[in-house]
Amino acid sequence: MELRKVGLKVTHPRLQILRLLEQTDRKHLTADEIYRLLNEQGDEIGLATVYRVLSQFEQACLVRKHMFDPGSGRALQACYELHDGEHHDHMVCVETGDVVEFVDPEIEERLHQIAKRHGFQIAEHSLVIYVKPRDRRAEG
Ligand SMILES: [Zn+2]
Repeated sequence: MELRKVGLKVTHPRLQILRLLEQTDRKHLTADEIYRLLNEQGDEIGLATVYRVLSQFEQACLVRKHMFDPGSGRALQACYELHDGEHHDHMVCVETGDVVEFVDPEIEERLHQIAKRHGFQIAEHSLVIYVKPRDRRAEG
């Protein structure tokens, strides 16, 4: 992905944050995590800059921001991921914070039907399932 293509000038922090998002094996990262990973690899980019760049990326549709709400009074967790243009939904573990992506054609079709039944068509949707680890003892 190129910064200039989306109308952003190439700066060191922008380039480093974009590279990190492209290369990380964890697709969904908080600003804090991005900040820590950059500093671990020797890039001294301030947290305020990380937030600023992420919001510029969001406006340029380079990244998507998700506000995952684990509930139970826990803080909302803003996560960022590269905008790959493909639709997917999320599962968030309320205990570990792990994020899993999924696409289910049957759910997509159902959502389409529900919107249609109410006289609409889907412009955009975002489905988040909050999960917890399976209690194996409870299984027969
Ligand atoms: Zn995702």
